[in-house]
Amino acid sequence: MLYAALIVLGVLVIFYVMTRTRRVDEPGSSKARTNNVISMESHRKAKQISEIQPCSSCKKKNGKLIFYAQDNGTVVGLCKDCQTKAKKRDMLPL
Ligand SMILES: [Zn+2]
Repeated sequence: MLYAALIVLGVLVIFYVMTRTRRVDEPGSSKARTNNVISMESHRKAKQISEIQPCSSCKKKNGKLIFYAQDNGTVVGLCKDCQTKAKKRDMLPL
């Protein structure tokens, strides 16, 4: 009896997840597109102020920074000195 109840519960959970996923993928939903625009604008702003930002690694205002994406998804701005360290860690320049 408990086993049957678990199967019913499992089917309900799968149905719930499927209906929710479909709602996000609807063509009328522009949520993903809006998020994309925002992230592009913040990225552009980060590039514009890159010359006055301190390096994320050594904290020195050492001229223009190059931005790298880390494995955990965060972005760091590194000076010329720290770029060699980033290359050794296989970080991707943005
Ligand atoms: Zn640095």
